[in-house]
Amino acid sequence: MPTIIDGKKTSAEIKEEIKARVLEIKAEGGKTPHLAAILVGNDGASQTYVGAKVKACEYVGFESTLVRLEETISEEELLKTVEEINENPDIDGLIVQLPLPKHISVEKVTNKIKPEKDVDGFTPSNVGRMALNWPAYVAATPYGIVELLKRYEIETSGKHCVVIGRSHIVGSPMSILMARNGYPGNATVTLTHSRTQNLPEIARSADILIVALGKAEFVTADMVKPGAVVIDVGIHRVPDSSKKSGFKLLGDVKFDEVEPIASAITPVPGGVGPMTIASLLYNTLLSAEKKVYG
Ligand code: NAD
Repeated sequence: MPTIIDGKKTSAEIKEEIKARVLEIKAEGGKTPHLAAILVGNDGASQTYVGAKVKACEYVGFESTLVRLEETISEEELLKTVEEINENPDIDGLIVQLPLPKHISVEKVTNKIKPEKDVDGFTPSNVGRMALNWPAYVAATPYGIVELLKRYEIETSGKHCVVIGRSHIVGSPMSILMARNGYPGNATVTLTHSRTQNLPEIARSADILIVALGKAEFVTADMVKPGAVVIDVGIHRVPDSSKKSGFKLLGDVKFDEVEPIASAITPVPGGVGPMTIASLLYNTLLSAEKKVYG
């Protein structure tokens, strides 16, 4: 029977660990970690995500500040708000919920965030530090995957790791993390993407297969080596009239087919997804304790 890598349980454990550490900090008379989130506009999904992040902060005992701005806000005003939070000594971490309205440059806004407070790990400084294997805020999804591999004691050294997808937020950082000198890491990494030829053959040679291409049930059993560890990052909502909600969630991997041949696998839902908020909380704690930039 394969190991089901349970992200829901692991993320709950991480939250308990953070909560315990916050209690210690408070007992020692230290400052309560404080996360600020900027939400621009009224996008429903973004409101849900930010709401969940604020709720998670409350749960672990962090302070949180939600700054809500009109959809019509100018880029200049948004940059000013970022600057104010950068300079506020009480705030340890800042996230700007994406997507932003079209008239605002995500690059400019990201670049304005002080690297010391960039708990989403999106600034060039943090991406560079991660690549150099220096202390860094690693982006939520890659960090969540690394943590799952660690906590499930998955051997990565000398293994062939195939990553499908090269996005800046998942595939590309995952390939860097799996190749770096450390644990998890020391893998021989193949990064594949939409122009890759013979993908099924390459995927079949993976000891560890990390799938983040955004196509529902793309990876089928014939693309997986028996005994491989399979990490499925994809999330897709598909209509399902048998469910009360009217939809079900699918990953990028055809779970029912692949699960019997894998040695370990993340389910969807309940695998990589729940780890993202835990990662954000963890980075905020690191910032409050000055563990990355000193
Ligand atoms: P993206 O669209 O930014 O990137 C997809 C990548 O896959 C691209 O690099 C592209 O070259 C590659 N690709 C596309 N078609 C391919 C093909 N046929 N063969 C090989 N490579 C191909 O996607 P993303 O933001 O990295 O997200 C990927 C998936 O992960 C999505 O389903 C997304 O919803 C999900 N996601 C989940 C979480 C989470 O918390 N679980 C977080 C981020 C993204």
